[in-house]
Amino acid sequence: MLQDAFDRPIRDLRISVTDRCNFRCTYCMPLDEYVWMDKQEILTFSEIARIATLFVRLGVSKIRLTGGEPLARKDLNTLIARLSLICGLEDLCLTTNGSLLAEQVEALARAGLKRVNVSIDTLDPEKFRRMTKRGNLEQVLAGLFAARAQGLHPIKLNAVVERGVNDDDIIPLAEFARKQGFQLRFIEYMDVGNANNWVTSKVVPKKEILQKIHAHLPLEKFGSNQGHAPSVDYRYADGNGEVGVIASMTKPFCSNCTRARLTADGRLVTCLFSLRGHDLKALLRGGATDGEISAMISKVWRARTDRYSDQRRKAINSDSGYHAGDHRKLEMISLGG
Ligand code: SAM
Ligand code: SF4
Ligand code: SF4
Repeated sequence: MLQDAFDRPIRDLRISVTDRCNFRCTYCMPLDEYVWMDKQEILTFSEIARIATLFVRLGVSKIRLTGGEPLARKDLNTLIARLSLICGLEDLCLTTNGSLLAEQVEALARAGLKRVNVSIDTLDPEKFRRMTKRGNLEQVLAGLFAARAQGLHPIKLNAVVERGVNDDDIIPLAEFARKQGFQLRFIEYMDVGNANNWVTSKVVPKKEILQKIHAHLPLEKFGSNQGHAPSVDYRYADGNGEVGVIASMTKPFCSNCTRARLTADGRLVTCLFSLRGHDLKALLRGGATDGEISAMISKVWRARTDRYSDQRRKAINSDSGYHAGDHRKLEMISLGG
């Protein structure tokens, strides 16, 4: 089994299919002007399918397509159809902002997509517009209901909580998800990338999120959902639904992190907070064999020592503190959330 320097196996692959996005979420990529990847540099679907197959042979069982906004990439259903055929792949999922889901979900489901994660941080149309700068809540809701009508299951909702911005949306989101049968996971606001002007005071810790929900809708804990999954799940005491919180800031899970990331331009990235990746595209386009590409992936994974969130937690608790601006990172939009 392929393991990194801390004995963590490679299990999940997040593939960013594009760095482009039709939203400009304030917590992710608020900049209107940004240097996008050159189109020639973006991996073709054939290149992605080839690399994905090699990752699965090395131990990956779960692939998530992400971005940027993955549905902004033309004909994504054809990539889903190809990836669905990979022998040994147990789970293929998509994380999307949902804005283009209603128009594409039928083709995606036909291609083999079984489930989807949709990001939605508020149910207030005006606030939604403010948080995403370009998004339309109605379109995202239409996408969610279209996905449900298409039979995708489970449909998970991701909500980043930013203090003073949408912490008052926690209860409305929880009630909405419960009523509609969607699985909701709140995400602590992270210092990903460099563009979002993150500060510690904007983080609403998991504990506070759960207390807020519990005061309104009593909860009981039923443990971490899949061993290595980062979201510890709770269920409502009345038996009607579940909720999770991904606590990357206050309860980092680096010791169980089995995720590799492939950027849209073909770099292998071993941590969400990395500054650079390892160029697989050069090998692919330089005529390397499958064996040579697999050897490169294995070498990078074996040398992996990433544990950024653990280290940040220690720094936050230390006398000198943690200053996000001191650490340059790849933008989340380019490496895949
Ligand atoms: N565009 C798609 C979407 O929004 O779902 C996929 C890419 S997005 C980068 C993936 C996930 O990262 C989304 O659920 C988003 O909410 C989350 N995300 C972005 N910036 C974040 C931040 N600063 N802290 C925590 N999560 C963040
Ligand atoms: Fe928002 Fe996702 Fe686009 Fe980032 S990639 S700006 S989270 S929609
Ligand atoms: Fe994994 Fe890096 Fe996140 Fe830690 S900080 S959980 S190593 S991606």
